[in-house]
Formats: sequence, structure tokens, C-alpha cells
Amino acid sequence: MVDARLLDILICPKCKSEKLELKPADQVIVCTDCGQVYRIIQEIPVMIPDDPQPEKK
Ligand SMILES: [Zn+2]
Repeated sequence: MVDARLLDILICPKCKSEKLELKPADQVIVCTDCGQVYRIIQEIPVMIPDDPQPEKK
């Protein structure tokens, strides 16, 4: 499990927001500002926007 405290030091590389939300069930981190999803692979957040998501709704 990814340590939630890790979120304190992570920012969204896409929009520079610190508002990242951990979704343990999905093993992803979601930026609540731009909606970008980042995967967590082997407990390491992959802070690369490789998952196509709409920037704005
Ligand atoms: Zn973002």
C-alpha cells in the first residue's frame, strides 16, 4: 500500500497541483484539479500522465 504521506510531497506534473487523491481500491492516484490519473505500480506512483483523461469536464 502506498503511504498516504507520500501524497504530501507529490504534485501533479501536469498542472502542478498538490491536490492528489489516493484511490487504494483502484491502485491509482487522481489529481482532483485536472482529473489526471496516475497508476501505482509495485507501490510506486508513476507520475506520468500516460492514461488519457479529459483535462476539463
Ligand atoms: Zn493535475
